[in-house]
Amino acid sequence: MKLSFCKLCGRLILRAYPYCPYCGSAQSPGPGLEEAVRPTFARLEEMQADLRASHIEELLESLEGLESAVEEILSHVSTRA
Ligand SMILES: [Zn+2]
Repeated sequence: MKLSFCKLCGRLILRAYPYCPYCGSAQSPGPGLEEAVRPTFARLEEMQADLRASHIEELLESLEGLESAVEEILSHVSTRA
């Protein structure tokens, strides 16, 4: 089902309608709902990818901290032994 927004009142209407059933304004074929929301979804996916990348960076940083902590502990153990 193809949907689009009325150019005058902004309500969601069937794309096949030549006139808006709410306000009666004539509809010229414009971008449908799918085309209208596609850039938004693309941007959302980009943001999610950025978020994942920064999260991975944070994890790597804390992993480095853990590694140095383990090294420190191991050095104490080896000096005691
Ligand atoms: Zn309308």
